[in-house]
Amino acid sequence: MNSSQRSRLLDAAERALRNAHAPYSVYRVGAAVLADGGKIFAGCNVENASYGLTLCAERVAVGAAVAAGNKNIRAIAIISDGPEVPWPCGACRQVLVEFAKDDTPVLVAIRGHLRAAEHTTLGALLPHAFRLETKS
Ligand SMILES: [Zn+2]
Repeated sequence: MNSSQRSRLLDAAERALRNAHAPYSVYRVGAAVLADGGKIFAGCNVENASYGLTLCAERVAVGAAVAAGNKNIRAIAIISDGPEVPWPCGACRQVLVEFAKDDTPVLVAIRGHLRAAEHTTLGALLPHAFRLETKS
């Protein structure tokens, strides 16, 4: 991922945050994934009155990428209003593992402070991830 892609990815996540549906937690999150070929797909959290049905921004972004035929995720950015940077929840880490690699960059930042984004890798966030090895 070059600096232009990094910038576009963070911007896309920040734009998606504005569309978050978070009337219950009032915790708005935007996410964006960089797919093969440089395309970016964004998502926001989508809460529900039945709390358990809430979708995290990361999983919405992954779904958008997959729905458009992109199953190789090269990077992900996640933005919140703060005060802490929004590291992905355990469920989202596992969903990302399905379409990304251990060395896939994960960027997290607070809205309005994208240059201070923190970064790690998916493998660091979810070591020994579950992967179903199928017989071929
Ligand atoms: Zn999550």
